[in-house]
Amino acid sequence: MKQSIPSRNDFDQYMIPMYSPAPFIPVKAQGSTLYDQNGKEYIDFVGGIAVNALGHANPALREALIEQSDKLWHTGNGYTNEPVLNLAKHFVESTFADKVFFCNSGAEANEAALKLARRYARQHFSAEKTEIIAFNNAFHGRTLFTVSTGGQPNYSKDFAPLPGAITHLPFNDLTAVEAAISDNTCAVIVEPIQGEGGVVPATAEFLRGLRALCDKHNAVLIFDEVQTGVGRTGYLYAYQSYGVTPDVLSTAKALGGGFPIGGILTTDKFASALSIGSHGTTYGGNPLACAVANASLNIIDSKEFLANVRAKQATFIEVLENINRRLGMFAEIRSAGLLIGCQLTEEYAGQAKAISTLCAEHGVMTLIAGPNVIRFTPALNISQQELETGLARFEQALKDYQSRK
Ligand SMILES: *Cc1c(COP(=O)(O)O)cnc(C)c1O
Repeated sequence: MKQSIPSRNDFDQYMIPMYSPAPFIPVKAQGSTLYDQNGKEYIDFVGGIAVNALGHANPALREALIEQSDKLWHTGNGYTNEPVLNLAKHFVESTFADKVFFCNSGAEANEAALKLARRYARQHFSAEKTEIIAFNNAFHGRTLFTVSTGGQPNYSKDFAPLPGAITHLPFNDLTAVEAAISDNTCAVIVEPIQGEGGVVPATAEFLRGLRALCDKHNAVLIFDEVQTGVGRTGYLYAYQSYGVTPDVLSTAKALGGGFPIGGILTTDKFASALSIGSHGTTYGGNPLACAVANASLNIIDSKEFLANVRAKQATFIEVLENINRRLGMFAEIRSAGLLIGCQLTEEYAGQAKAISTLCAEHGVMTLIAGPNVIRFTPALNISQQELETGLARFEQALKDYQSRK
C-alpha cells in the first residue's frame, strides 16, 4: 500500500479517540530539542512523560539497541537471555531488591505487584486477607485492577464491576490509614510523590508510618515508582531519598529511555509468592528492551549523574521562581529532582491545558498534572542551553497568555 505523508486529521479519522494529541506531529529529535513536520523547533520539557530520561536519540542507547538487534530480539520466557540477566543483576546490586520481574509497562508492573500481594497473603495467612489500601488522586495505570486501585474514580467508574476490596484514603493522612488498616489488609500501594495527581510529595513521616503499619499487620508495602524512578528525583529511586524501603517497588517509564519496559523489584521473602506458572507475560524481559534499559541504567546509576540531576533541579526552580516573581501565576512550585509541578493560582485555576497548548506554539513542550498544575519532566541530561531557551520561551508563552486574558 502506498502511503502519503500523514496529517493530524488522520488521527481523528483512524485512531480510537481516547487521546487528544497536539495539533503538530513530531518527526525527529535529538537531546531535548524536537522538530515537527514543518521543521518547527521545540524544547522538550515533557521527555515523553518522564520516559526519555537521556533525551532523544541518545548515542549509548542507540548503540545498545542496534547491537542487540543484530543478535537476538525475542525468544519468549521458555529461554532466558543475557541482557535480562545483566539488568536483573544491576538492580539487585544497586537497590534493596533480591529478585526482579520484567514486563512492558507501569500498569503491568503494578498489576504484578498487587497480584503478588494477594497471593502472598493467601499463601501465608488466609483467604480473607485481601484488602488493598490505596490513596485518593493516585495513579497506577489503566488495566482494570490498576485503574481501580488508582484514586481517580472518573477513570474507573464506567468499567464496573471493578475488582473489590480496595479502600481509598486521603494521601499523607496517617491517622486515616491507622484507622482503616487491619490484619485483613494484604497491601498498601503508594507513590512516594504523586505524579499525575499534581506532583505532590509524600511526607517522610507518612511513608515511615506506612512502613510501620505494614510491618504490624503483615501487609506488603508497594511503592509505585513508575514516575519517580530511574533517577527522576535525583536518586536512583525516591525511596532512597526518604530512607524508607518498600517490600515491592514498581518501575517503568524512564527505565527503557523510550523503549517499553517495566518491572518489579522485591525481596526473596516476597518473590516466593510468585512461583512457576503463577504470572507472566510474553514480551517481558525481552532482549531488545533489556539491552536498552541496561545501557540507560549504566549511565544514570552513578553518583555524578544523580548529583547533576539535583543541580539542574536547583537551576530550573530558581528560574521558575524568578518568572513567577514577575508574572505571579503560581501559588506553589513543587519539585523532586526533575519532576516539577507549578500549581496555578486561583485566578488561573483549570487553565493548565490551555497554557500548555500555548507553550507549544511558543516552541516549548510542557505537560500538565490535572487541571491546575503545569508539569515538567524533562530529560535528566537536558543541556544548560536547552534549559535556558525552553524556560525563556515558557515565560514568553505565559506573558502572551496573560495578555490574551
Ligand atoms: C505512568 C504511570 C503508571 C502507568 O504506567 P504505564 O506504562 O502507562 O502503564 C503507573 N504509575 C505511575 C505512578 C505512573 O506515573
